[in-house]
Order: sequence, then C-alpha cells, then structure tokens
Amino acid sequence: MARRTKPGPKARAVEARQILDMNAYRPGGAAAAPALARRLANYGAAAVLFYDDPIEMVAAEGAWMIAADGSRYLDFYNNVPSVGHTHPRVVAAVQEQVARLNINSRYLNRVVDDYLEALKAYLPDSLSNVVLTCSGSEANDLAMRVAAKASGGSGFVVTRTAYHGNTSAVTGISPSAFKRGAPADHVACVPEPSAEQFGAHIAEGFAAAVRQALDELAARGHRPAALVCDTIFSSDGVHADPPGFPVAAVAAVRQAGGLFIADEVQPGFARTGDGFWGFERHGLVPDMVTMGKPMGNGFPMAGLAVRPELLDAFCADTGYFNTFGANPVAAAAGHAVLQAIEEEGLQGNAATVGRHLQARLGDLAARSDRIAAIRGAGLFVGVDLASDGVPDPDLAARTINGLRRERVLIGAAGRLGHTLKVRPPLCLTLAEADIFVDALARVLGR
Ligand code: PMP
Repeated sequence: MARRTKPGPKARAVEARQILDMNAYRPGGAAAAPALARRLANYGAAAVLFYDDPIEMVAAEGAWMIAADGSRYLDFYNNVPSVGHTHPRVVAAVQEQVARLNINSRYLNRVVDDYLEALKAYLPDSLSNVVLTCSGSEANDLAMRVAAKASGGSGFVVTRTAYHGNTSAVTGISPSAFKRGAPADHVACVPEPSAEQFGAHIAEGFAAAVRQALDELAARGHRPAALVCDTIFSSDGVHADPPGFPVAAVAAVRQAGGLFIADEVQPGFARTGDGFWGFERHGLVPDMVTMGKPMGNGFPMAGLAVRPELLDAFCADTGYFNTFGANPVAAAAGHAVLQAIEEEGLQGNAATVGRHLQARLGDLAARSDRIAAIRGAGLFVGVDLASDGVPDPDLAARTINGLRRERVLIGAAGRLGHTLKVRPPLCLTLAEADIFVDALARVLGR
C-alpha cells in the first residue's frame, strides 16, 4: 500500500474545526440564487450545505451525480450509495417490495429474517442478535444504553474529533459536533491515533491515552461503559494503520470492565478493501457493532449487532421497538446491497482501485509539497494538506471548492479540517480514480 508521511507541522497555531463547518456554505455576501434562498428560508439555522456555491442535484448513476444545469459531477464524497448511485439491483428490490408489503417488525416476515441471516454471515459468530434501526445515531444510542446496563458503568471513551450521531446522548460522545463547550463529565477524549501524536508507536501511545482516559473517568466517579471507535477514525482524519493498533486499547477498556463498540457506519460494508468491516483488519472482535449509511445504499436503515447476553440484560429492564426499523423494504434494500457487493466483487475492487489511487496520490505528493501525508485503506483515504509544513485548512477549503469547479465532489475531515476525505463509491473504476487525481493536480497547481 502506498503510504507517504512528510515531517509533521512546525507549529500548532491552527484551530480545531467543527465537523459540520467543514466545506460548508456560509450565508452572506451576494444575493442567494432562487433555489438556495428557498432552502435557507425552509431550513433556517439548521441548513448545512456544501461549497461556497451550493449545487442543485437532480439525478445520479454509478459514481456520477447530475446537476440541474446538466453538468456531471464525479462523486468522491460518497459513503451512502456506496455500491453506486441508483444501483439497478437495489432500485428493483425496493420497488418490488414496496409494491408488495411494508409493515413494522411485530409481524413475522421472511424477507426480514432472510436479510438478517445474510448479514450475520458477515459478522463474528458471537454477535448473533441484530436490532435494525433507521439511522446510525439510533444504533449508537441503543449501543450506549446496552453498554451502560451490561457494564454497570456510565463513562465513555472516544477520540477527540469523533462523530457518532445526533441524539442527545450520542451528541454527548461526538466532540466534533460541539460548537462550544467541552464534553460532559462522563466522557473522556483521547487524541486521534496518528503518527503526529504517537510517532512510530501508535498502538502503545493510543493504549496509554485510553488508560489515562479511564483514570480521568475514575477520578470523576465514572466506571467505564465503553470505548466507542469509528474503526477508520474518519472524522479524526482517517487513521487506518498499522493494522491491529487498537487491540491494546480495547484490552485496557475490557480489563477495566467496559465494552468495545465498533462504529462501522463509515468503514463498514467492504469499503476498506481488506475486510468487510473496519474492525476486521485490526483483528478485533467487538462486543457490539453499529452500522448504517451504506447499508441500504441510500434507503434509510441502520443497525446494531450485539452479543445476546448483553441485549438480554438491557431488555430485562427496557424494551426496544422502532416503528420503521426492520421494515421489509429496508430488508430488501439491505439484501440487494450485500448481493451487489458479492456479485460485483466490490470489496476486491475497493482494494485494487484503492491501491491505484494511493499510488497515484503518492506520485502527486512527490511533486507537491502541499500534500503532507496520505493515509487510508481501500477506498477510504485521507490526504493532509499543508503550507510550509503547517496544516492548512484554508488550502483544504480552497481545494475542495476548486475540485467542485473541476466537477469532482469531495469533503474535509480531521481536527483542524486540513485532511481531504477521499471516499468514492466502491464501484469506482481506475479511469475514474485518474480523473480525480488529475483534477487534484490541476487544483494544487501541479
Ligand atoms: N457514526 C459515524 C461514524 C458517522 O459518520 C455517522 C454519520 N455521519 C453516524 C454515526 C450517525 O449516522 P446517522 O447520520 O445515520 O444518524
């Protein structure tokens, strides 16, 4: 795997950024175009739009999105329709099922159990119960509650730029969502597992940081409920290597009586190429796995896979029912996604095209001192941008808007917002990877 790391930043004068602020449209200045004015009037302060000049989209296919003016954009931000936009197999499965039956989970239905068994074939044997929800946030919210009950603890350890969702409890463990203030007493944060933080000893450094976080929680009177990690640390800037690095940190949490929750909302469903799940490439078996985004290729569905004894303990106190979770249309969509990944060899494609992408980015980095590091696995890559060796989030913002003018869609990540988040659909071709790298070279002036 092509990997390149240049010397770390000389100074740390750059400020941390909130995840929803990255790459975001900021109202003000010139009068908004009609479609934009309409959106701002309807959404108000909760409007979050990409780019200085937001795009109105009308259609999509494969790795491409089509705007209202007819121009085609290559989607390198994609992490939902990840087997390809409007994938024919998924579209047909949803159409067929929605025309036949759509009900809640209080009835028996073969479509749902066929899907759950197909999904469980990809999971560790110990995680033999699956609760379907509608969003990753709901899945993480439930996982937190199950962890608290099973462990008897109330403390959570997360990375300092983590994002895990939008419910009240889950926002509490998503420091990247905070515009002001610090995490609550029961949440302890650790740095992202990077070479800048821990040098060549990422596994040891990350484990020591987690042990310190456990001590901080203990000092505040909280026994640990869980360590929650996005297993590719996407919002922390994409940190994938070395394989196995989180193992010691997970062992430390378990030794202290807490659980390990793998948030697979971003890395899951074959994206890393090395495994179907991000935790697999680290040789971990989580106590719970949460999943979402690519699970239904755009059909809203998510889930929690859990050891039965943990769910039993939780359900003895509190039941769980989700009106739209586990409906047969979602199950049909999810099953079609699994079949598309298998039949089209998308995990292998993510590995092959991802290797090519990293190699080409490595060549570009050799010509451009603005690329400070390249990290990732499969079709999930982080590219750090810097000026004079200092992380440069403004350069990242200019690059993202420059790529938009080149008709390539991409986002930012990382605590400082200087990392390009490269995350194309799993059906990406080598030629499409080249379109992106050539456009990035033009935008970076190389
Ligand atoms: N976990 C991670 C790692 C995520 O990136 C997200 C969404 N960005 C979520 C959880 C929450 O998922 P949802 O938006 O479906 O609630």
